[in-house]
Amino acid sequence: MALDDSWFTEQHDGAGSAFSLKTTAKLSDVQSDYQRIEMFDTTDWGKLMVIDGCTMVSTRDNFLYHEMMSHPVLFSHAAPKRVAIIGGGDCGTLREVLKHPEVERAVQIDIDEQVTRAAEKYFPELCESNHDPRAELLWIDGIDWINKAPAGSLDVIIVDSTDPIGPGEVLFTPAFYNACHNALADGGLVVQQSESPLLHLPILEKMYRSLMAARFSDARTLFFPQPLYPSGWWSATIGCKNGTLDGFREADADRRRFDTHYYNSAIHRAAFAEPEFFRKARADWLASN
Ligand code: SAM
Repeated sequence: MALDDSWFTEQHDGAGSAFSLKTTAKLSDVQSDYQRIEMFDTTDWGKLMVIDGCTMVSTRDNFLYHEMMSHPVLFSHAAPKRVAIIGGGDCGTLREVLKHPEVERAVQIDIDEQVTRAAEKYFPELCESNHDPRAELLWIDGIDWINKAPAGSLDVIIVDSTDPIGPGEVLFTPAFYNACHNALADGGLVVQQSESPLLHLPILEKMYRSLMAARFSDARTLFFPQPLYPSGWWSATIGCKNGTLDGFREADADRRRFDTHYYNSAIHRAAFAEPEFFRKARADWLASN
């Protein structure tokens, strides 16, 4: 069935797939110094943000991504006080991070201020914590910022970037992971959106090898549904500095005093369960490092 032009469609290069949402209006179309940012209204998914033709955020399903990029890594850290979010310009991850009362400071670093300005207008609910006194918003290339971050100055780094093409590419390099390792205190954690386990296993392999080369002592991947993204099955990969990722603050997760729509301690445990193809691949990557 041919789709009429009221549909927004993202074709997934090299995957032979595509994803479409029926739209009712195009709300804005901005070419910033870094990327093209489009906003749509849709029939059933609320607002839709698209960057350089790739779906980024929808009102309907962004909770899956923002919760799973924040709560597993924060509850896996003994005492996450100092957090940096690299990318994340829609500010949905910042909002989730600041729900954790033990977080004392959250720096949100995006290369493109236009993304945040568009989010403030069309996704105000994601920006509701932007004026929290613990938050600092910066617009700078994430690799430049992390290279200047003092050694041992961070407990958790969340890399909520676009795909490893365009401005996001630098955030998937060994140099970037080395800089993250240096900036983290002992026991520190970095988590990065690590694409689709079904479509992008080579990207995950490269991430593991780069994390190991950067001397992270452990790396694990968590899986979660994300209908908006290619294949609808997404992942985030966590690296640990001088520690392990075996347990998490389960009692704190159960006692948490903030709302979530997807995350809870059972989801936390289940998210780290490895599909058999991934368990074998990860074992090979770690053994051959
Ligand atoms: N959830 C989305 C995904 O998984 O593709 C990411 C959402 S967020 C909008 C991605 C952000 O990464 C964008 O705002 C973009 O400006 C930012 N970004 C890309 N490259 C960057 C870089 N080198 N430094 C900082 N931010 C960057």
